[in-house]
Amino acid sequence: MAGTGGCALFIDHENVTVSLRDQRREVAPARLASVFKVWAETHGRLIMAESFANWTRFTGQADYDRFGITPVFAGEAKNAADIRMATRAYEANENPAVKTIILVTGDRDLKAVAQKIRQTGRVVVVWAVSSTAAGQLKGVADEFETVEDLLLDADRKGGRPPGGGPRPAAEEGVAATGGHGTAKAPGQDKRRFSVSELKAYEQCPRRWYLQYIRNVRTPPTHEGFVGQHIHHALRDLMLKPPEERTLEFLCERLRTHWRDDRRGRECFQKDREFERKCGERAIGLLENFYLGADLKAQPKQVELFLDWTVAPRGSSGTPGGLPAGVTLTGKIDRIDGAPDGRLIIIDYKTGRLQPSDEYLRQDIQVAVYWTMVEETQKTPVGAFKFLGLAEYRELEMRPSPDDLGAALGRVTQIIGRIHTDPDPQPKVGPLCPWCGHLDGCPDKDKASSFKKAPEGSDDLPF
Ligand code: SF4
Repeated sequence: MAGTGGCALFIDHENVTVSLRDQRREVAPARLASVFKVWAETHGRLIMAESFANWTRFTGQADYDRFGITPVFAGEAKNAADIRMATRAYEANENPAVKTIILVTGDRDLKAVAQKIRQTGRVVVVWAVSSTAAGQLKGVADEFETVEDLLLDADRKGGRPPGGGPRPAAEEGVAATGGHGTAKAPGQDKRRFSVSELKAYEQCPRRWYLQYIRNVRTPPTHEGFVGQHIHHALRDLMLKPPEERTLEFLCERLRTHWRDDRRGRECFQKDREFERKCGERAIGLLENFYLGADLKAQPKQVELFLDWTVAPRGSSGTPGGLPAGVTLTGKIDRIDGAPDGRLIIIDYKTGRLQPSDEYLRQDIQVAVYWTMVEETQKTPVGAFKFLGLAEYRELEMRPSPDDLGAALGRVTQIIGRIHTDPDPQPKVGPLCPWCGHLDGCPDKDKASSFKKAPEGSDDLPF
């Protein structure tokens, strides 16, 4: 985290909203306001919080207001929001209580403002939508995060940031009791679940509890860091027209994302030799993709964030008996079109591919993404394809309605357990060596008996 003193938050709502729309993504202003506020508070007490837009063209004033962020009318002129935002950032810089200034914009015109603020010893944090984040602005920030990652992380953490302080009393489920003396499940009130969260609960309820309810922060892992930037580089490649998709561009994107992500220092702990090995392995995986994959593919969507609230399908109820009103979220790496008009969901895997029946029997991802895509895109899905980068291989699955129903039934059970389990217990398994909570795990001795496989030889836990 950047600073421990006061913090000022300035949001160019127009820049964020238009950039997300360019990715064909609509995020409600209330959600942006909530996520920005929660994350900003991890940098210190919020002293100033303002969101700039021509509010005659954008909705959301009331939402920002509700979250304690003042909506500021920036005027109708082009760049009016940046100018107002820059002025206010300079004013915040005069306030001795403000130690961190967060600029939510990708506009390079804010570079001079960021530089000036840094010269006064304050910390500058920039959050921007990845596709419009100016390199010059990122380059002068002390910290940079994409808006997409903040939204995704907020989903993973149930809406709270890492290390986000004590839980509200209503969530003290393990120790607390309900009005009639019955133990309350810590996840009883949860209505929003990412696919990663559901998988985390299935793998180990205790880890889920620590990660998604207690919000215990664990250091970033090098496996997660490498996997994330491989995905980012592939996203950038596939957003280019086919004739511009070169291996040099792909590797350059990996290096850029890697360099810009300051968590790398924590992951590699300044061990340059280890970082070099991880980087070379990542480049090797990208080369495998480049040599094996269809580079002429014309994706319909790249890195699509989905948000689907379960609703009954007429008289047949909800798919797989999922609880109506629950929202499922997830990120799809890519969606291609099939010649018959149906959609093909693409998922990049940096680790070992399993046989397809294992995915259908054991992994809920295929069924949940399949259903979410059909429900939100209003187009049938024809196949789900894993592209394995370790030794380039494609694994295509076409689950039957029974397969989908069975997997969604498991999701229903997982949500049911989250809503009712008052004391989520450890479940020791082969993923324990990657668990960030191993040291504090009640079953630490047993969990430690699993050994990590050598680097690159096994599936990665993300
Ligand atoms: S070490 Fe294993 S059993 Fe313990 S919390 Fe982590 S995943 Fe669960």
